Amino acid sequence: MSDRIHTLSGYFHEYQKSVADPENFWARVADSFHWKKRWDKVLDWNFDGPDVKWFLNGKLNITENILERHQYTIGDRPAIVWEPNDPNEEGRTLTYKQLFEEVCRFSNVLQEKGVQKGDKVIIYMPMVPEAAVAMLACARVGAIHSVVFAGFSSNALSDRINDCEAKVVLTADGNFRGKKKIPVKAVVDEALETTSTVETVIVYQRTQQEVTMKEGRDYWWQDAISGASTEHQAVEMDSEDILFILYTSGSTGKPKGVVHTCGGYMIYSKYTFENVFQYNPGDVYWCTADIGWITGHSYIVYGPLLSGATSIMFEGVPTYPDAGRFWQVVDKYKVNQFYTAPTAIRALQAHGTDPIAPYKLDSLKVLGSVGEPINEEAWHWYHTHIGKTKCPIVDTWWQTETGGIMVSPLAGITPTKPAYATLPLPGVQLAIMDTEGNEMIGNSVEGNLCVKFPWPGMIRTTYGDHDRCKQTYFTAYKGMYFTGDGVKRDHDGYYRILGRVDDVINVSGHRMGTAEVENAINEHPLVVESAVVGYPHPVKGQGIYAYVICDMKNRTEQNLVGEIKDTVTKIIGPIAKPDKIQIVPGLPKTRSGKIMRRILRKVAEGNMDNMGDTSTLLDPDVVDQIIEGRIE
Ligand code: ATP
Ligand code: MG
Repeated sequence: MSDRIHTLSGYFHEYQKSVADPENFWARVADSFHWKKRWDKVLDWNFDGPDVKWFLNGKLNITENILERHQYTIGDRPAIVWEPNDPNEEGRTLTYKQLFEEVCRFSNVLQEKGVQKGDKVIIYMPMVPEAAVAMLACARVGAIHSVVFAGFSSNALSDRINDCEAKVVLTADGNFRGKKKIPVKAVVDEALETTSTVETVIVYQRTQQEVTMKEGRDYWWQDAISGASTEHQAVEMDSEDILFILYTSGSTGKPKGVVHTCGGYMIYSKYTFENVFQYNPGDVYWCTADIGWITGHSYIVYGPLLSGATSIMFEGVPTYPDAGRFWQVVDKYKVNQFYTAPTAIRALQAHGTDPIAPYKLDSLKVLGSVGEPINEEAWHWYHTHIGKTKCPIVDTWWQTETGGIMVSPLAGITPTKPAYATLPLPGVQLAIMDTEGNEMIGNSVEGNLCVKFPWPGMIRTTYGDHDRCKQTYFTAYKGMYFTGDGVKRDHDGYYRILGRVDDVINVSGHRMGTAEVENAINEHPLVVESAVVGYPHPVKGQGIYAYVICDMKNRTEQNLVGEIKDTVTKIIGPIAKPDKIQIVPGLPKTRSGKIMRRILRKVAEGNMDNMGDTSTLLDPDVVDQIIEGRIE
């Protein structure tokens, strides 16, 4: 824990050091890990290729830094605590020692099935401990895992299998989600009809629902591990060997297979975990994400386990059996750090505070938010009703591509401001760019968010298509990684993410973030959620089209629309007043809970013929309802 920052001045000091001499800074962090062979050179890079390498010729296995490392010191500490979907079912705990054995067993199974270093393994599993075991076993044998969220359709799954030419699929019979029992293996079967590379499927039995097993291809997980040895020698990996491929959520287009490598990712996920959450040995930490997202990779599995933390893994949903489920789990395990997404906070907020009342929540020390800008109202609700005003909120900005958190308060150290991700972590050199390609210096500026120097956890390529990586991230601004997000740096030098650049609306020359307008709309007491997009406007250049979910009470639509416009005028000014407000039953969201604004933009533009790739939408029906109610 030598790299832990404890004070605000300590943060500024570390930040300075990381900029003045990045190689030395990260080498010092990397020194606290176990390497089979130390690196020759810390960093080699150019952003034109792009070609970025960290810890060159270093040899390691990330799982040795989780399993071998902790077995004698904290072997009996719970590593993964699993809470099932149904509160009446008993949970499970894997201590570090037990996790070690399970990972070894499954590593042996993988090798027995012919899996070798560099082979691709798809993990399409519910939130059970075996999903984490599967990831670690892949890493241990040198296979490249690609986790696909178990709610994705067979099409989305086969696309990903084909894109990375996977040899093995790890899955389950089914998945318990709230009241539902969802087929999983059946989706795999369907996906495999349009793929040709998969030789082996291993099926974890979870729901006991009926499945078809194909002789010679499909095996039960439980059978496969029964005779396997609990000892296994980790395969030696190079720092720059691929650890995993993860497809982005697809909210802006066709998902990209983001590639992360062993050495840099290991260092970055642990360093950021310990500092942002101010993790202390013995703390119980819970991240509610699914392991199918980068948040689950870095902050359920790798970061916490590298740190020796107790990481809770939750199979269920926030509203089953009722909207108090999260808080019941927090009390049950005395959770210290709780990390979730604004979409979950807003959904729970809509249920009011009654579901929270039965719970103490007094174990909580830190609250976290990730995935979207958190609007001020949700921030205050979270802070007041969950954190009881004593828990700092870490609003963590980052991306699948960044591997770990980039901009965030350090809990309890960095003074927070609602809706601000605040300051960059050490090693993160941000630049705000104007549309002409100039860096905007100083405070009180707004533009496109870039990073001008490599950090260890960054994307190396998009799998199988390096040019796509270059085009998407490294061409907009020469010599910089472009995040795709708009940002504002305020008078204190604090960063506020405005949403995706494509979503920044330009009304009569005034640039506005969708997040900012939504924030204002959400201040109306009857608004549950909103999404704002721009559309071509003959006079203003762009007009503002707002889609709003409301609790109608006994208001008429006309009344409500008028009140919402007034609210926005009052909070931001008349320039931000939406031109059109459509009351909608729901919003098109990706399965990770993000609003797919490109669809809303098409509807607003009246361009409904080609909606693009909607395979990652949670509920495609909502799109038809929105089209029906469209305002001309
Ligand atoms: P795709 O790249 O396929 O469109 P995606 O960008 O939604 O998908 P992720 O990598 O999961 O996939 O999400 C990263 C994005 O989420 C960021 O670029 C940003 O727009 C948003 N985001 C994440 N955290 C925050 C935050 N704390 N505040 C504001 N925005 C955030
Ligand atoms: Mg993205």
